[in-house]
Amino acid sequence: MKVQNFINGEFKPAISGRLIENRNPSNGQMYGSLPDSDKSDVEEAFLAAEAAFPAWSNTPSEERFKILNAIAEGIDSLREELALAESIDQGKPLWLAKSEMIRASQNFRFFATAAMQFSSESHASENTSINYTLRSPIGVVGCISPWNLPLYLFTWKVAPALAAGNCVVAKPSEFTPVTASMLANICIAAKLPSGVLNIVQGLGSSAGEAIVSHPKIKAISFTGGTDTGKNIASIAAPMFKKISLELGGKNPTIIFADSDLEKAIKTTVKSSFMNQGEICLCGSRVFVERPVYERVKQSLLEAVNAMKVGDPLHENTQVGAIVSKQHFDKVLAHIALAKKEGATVLCGGESVEPEGFALGWYIKPTILEGLPPNCRTNKEEIFGPVISIAPFDTEDEVLAMANNTEYGLAATLWTENLSRAHKMAQQLETGIVWINCWLLRDLRTPFGGVKSSGLGREGGWEAMRFFTEAKNVCVAL
Ligand code: NAD
Repeated sequence: MKVQNFINGEFKPAISGRLIENRNPSNGQMYGSLPDSDKSDVEEAFLAAEAAFPAWSNTPSEERFKILNAIAEGIDSLREELALAESIDQGKPLWLAKSEMIRASQNFRFFATAAMQFSSESHASENTSINYTLRSPIGVVGCISPWNLPLYLFTWKVAPALAAGNCVVAKPSEFTPVTASMLANICIAAKLPSGVLNIVQGLGSSAGEAIVSHPKIKAISFTGGTDTGKNIASIAAPMFKKISLELGGKNPTIIFADSDLEKAIKTTVKSSFMNQGEICLCGSRVFVERPVYERVKQSLLEAVNAMKVGDPLHENTQVGAIVSKQHFDKVLAHIALAKKEGATVLCGGESVEPEGFALGWYIKPTILEGLPPNCRTNKEEIFGPVISIAPFDTEDEVLAMANNTEYGLAATLWTENLSRAHKMAQQLETGIVWINCWLLRDLRTPFGGVKSSGLGREGGWEAMRFFTEAKNVCVAL
């Protein structure tokens, strides 16, 4: 499959003509290519977006609603094809890709209605004045997304940017370019005017950095690794760009003895290994209260040993392929490091070659035990099917262990003790706390992390505020 850029409503190659190869993680084979875009392609995309901005930003919100809603419907009607493309491109099980396509259309539907309902505040100042806030679209904005949930996260950024009246230069990951390109066709069918959404494919170091450093692209919404986020912040800050950074995580899962253990264990298997552990919200450090530690450990081991690793397109597959050779090597290097740091490998700990897929990049779901809290394995993001498990005795002890990382994205807490749950939710240094659930999302809630997990929040009005400039108008009475 030959993916192209989508600029000013047209599909085109990179101006340089250079290509990047695209490999299928399930078998390691090259199966397509994408443009190796650079500064000149980003400039062309920017000019198209800039030209489209006056008309799009003045399009009545009801009209924007209709177009964004039509894109949502277009995603729904192409759900099977998109899911298949995503599974082949990314390595995730097909059933999971299908559920992510539901979320991709929800993103557009949700922000289509936000376009209709967004309103500004007014502040009456006791007999002296009345203030109101004008919110205008920013202009041309940049959206850069990662490979783990390709269309789900691409649409999570692009939809609010468009709903708020901006024009967009967007870049999906070079490892998963296909579904963003299919979305371009859906946008054409939905009559999104040319130039409103431009998709530039290519590497982060060239196309991505050209978006970030473009002097007239005024806001950057980025999801990806913490080091990339640091680099983006260092370029964008002196240019006074608005930035929203959704970065890495090293999320704790805390299981108290009083929890509904059956549910906690079942969900922990998912929260640890769904999408091969390649979800920023996956729990990678599991802390279990000592009285139930052995029981939880044995049940987890039983469930994880039974997980089927293999062909992403097979309906029984639970763990698919790792997205790239580069990432596969990184995850295996982390497992080797964990062993050096004293880990006992309770299960997994190695790559696997499913029958018929010997050249694919597969890693067995891995549970590590016996690691000291301060070792690198317990502090650094691995972003693969690897978790560590450890017992704890008190709330204070587990809080200290949970917070003992530079990351602060999400935490999952299992307990039936209401006051403990609320107390701990306050003290966990994360942007999201799930109590007795995982990945239960309401798109109105603020989404994002603290510490090195990011800057700013996405979701609901947070996203609409990010993608607009506020102006205070003060009228003396
Ligand atoms: P990455 O940082 O390597 O790449 C993300 C995107 O940024 C890609 O499109 C890439 O091409 C681009 N990019 C890379 N270097 C760039 C640069 N210098 N300038 C501009 N753009 C650049 O991340 P990844 O490996 O694709 O994704 C995995 C990471 O994403 C993990 O750390 C994961 O935790 C994080 N993530 C976070 C969230 C969240 O919501 N917090 C969600 C998903 C993934």
